[in-house]
Amino acid sequence: MTEVLNQLFIGGAWVDAADGATMPVDDPATGEILSHVADAGAKDARLAEEAAVQAQAAWARTAPRARSEILRRAHEIILERTDELAHLMTSEMGKPLAEARGEVAYAAEFFRWFSEEAVRIDGGCGTLPDGRNRMFLSRRPVGPCLLITPWNFPLAMGTRKIGPAIAAGCTMILKPAPQTPLSSLALAGILKEAGLPDGVLNVVTTSRAGEVCEPLLRGGRIRKLSFTGSTAVGRLLLAQCADTVVRTSMELGGNAPFIVFDDADLDVAVDGAMVAKMRNMGEACTAANRFFVHRPVAEEFGRRLAERMGALVVGPGTRDGVDVGPLIDTVGRAKVEELVADAVERGAQVLVGGRTPEGPGCFYPPTVLADVSPESRLMDTEIFGPVAAILTFDDEDEVLRRANDTPWGLVGYVFTEGLDRGLRVSEGLEVGMVGLNTGLVSNPAAPFGGVKQSGLGREGGRVGIDEFLEYQYVAVPVR
Ligand code: NAP
Repeated sequence: MTEVLNQLFIGGAWVDAADGATMPVDDPATGEILSHVADAGAKDARLAEEAAVQAQAAWARTAPRARSEILRRAHEIILERTDELAHLMTSEMGKPLAEARGEVAYAAEFFRWFSEEAVRIDGGCGTLPDGRNRMFLSRRPVGPCLLITPWNFPLAMGTRKIGPAIAAGCTMILKPAPQTPLSSLALAGILKEAGLPDGVLNVVTTSRAGEVCEPLLRGGRIRKLSFTGSTAVGRLLLAQCADTVVRTSMELGGNAPFIVFDDADLDVAVDGAMVAKMRNMGEACTAANRFFVHRPVAEEFGRRLAERMGALVVGPGTRDGVDVGPLIDTVGRAKVEELVADAVERGAQVLVGGRTPEGPGCFYPPTVLADVSPESRLMDTEIFGPVAAILTFDDEDEVLRRANDTPWGLVGYVFTEGLDRGLRVSEGLEVGMVGLNTGLVSNPAAPFGGVKQSGLGREGGRVGIDEFLEYQYVAVPVR
């Protein structure tokens, strides 16, 4: 394991917080302190902003090929260091090593994808309908960006924003979640090694998010906010962006329906459920939150899912053979406990799990609840834990109405062998993404994002870079 980076990264230099403050980073599997990192305040934010603003003009002028090659080198370095990055991520976040390795590959792929997009930023020219005026259209970087990321995918949520920002020619300040700053700092080290010029990426770790971010958003020099996190915080940040009309991308919370029809292949549906529910211990915005199962197959689906969930091995993510690591912290686990208790009080049956184990670490067992009341709190709250809540339905119209009866619209899952029905229900779901007979939708080449209160804009895919570019049109009359 190489040295763990723990200072702020500003203007290409590693520095302490101006007031010398530090904050602890805990291992959720033991509750012990892993490391301390710099805890930035408003003064550090101003320094990071100045570095990003100063670097912007020269960075915007660099050749797209040069930006592309930095991303390509960083992609390769990340892959070469898969094991050490996976260990770092597991130790600060808890996910099992196999999943952490998967995230390293997923995160690296955003850099490869956007290295390919950097050299394909299109423009255009043409004759306007009057036949006299010409139009020259170019695309230019939006300017210095603030990128705010959550703790659940510490590396991939960073590369999904940094990749397109670099490709587009934007400079940036990254503020990672305080629970998982180490992966972001490691990423900054890798980008520096890959040749990223000083000031293009600045990383500010802090326990004082509001103090650091609000002046940046209200100050008028940051031109773009790309945020991934909860809908509640997203709303607050949108309001902060309003005064200076900062452009925003918002990847917010979800409340994914997982719909199983009676003509589904139940093996495929249970496999899909294991991924859609258990990836990242259920701590994913894409996690299936509400399982709607057609009445004729509900009992069998519940039995099979409970059998698979009950066979998972829970323990520290670094231990061989572990499938389910700890939840992020005691607050996250207490929320899961409360939601399960509420569902049980309202009549849900516990098919497996449901009881917090004794001992250190924030562990919670894979849990399946059947006969969940639609009134239960977990129907309109992101569970963010390994709990599958099953409800039954009788027909297609009814399930679509119930699935859409939520302010969120990130992703939905549909299991049926009927192509007509699969497409009809997918199109009827008010979501940005659908897994049709699959529990996994995330892919760097596909546009990721939601509708309704799940967000604004898309990350990844051909359109991911658009979020960091503005159009400029030059009108030229030909005399
Ligand atoms: P969160 O509490 O909203 O925090 C997300 C980030 O915002 C953290 O870095 C947090 O730092 C920061 N933050 C909080 N208040 C802030 C403020 N006033 N000003 C500036 N920054 C602020 O969410 P989380 O608990 O970390 O992550 C889980 C949520 O993220 C879930 O809702 C999940 O669905 C969502 N998510 C969405 C996607 C997607 O692509 N749609 C992907 C992953 C996760 P502090 O912790 O220091 O406050």
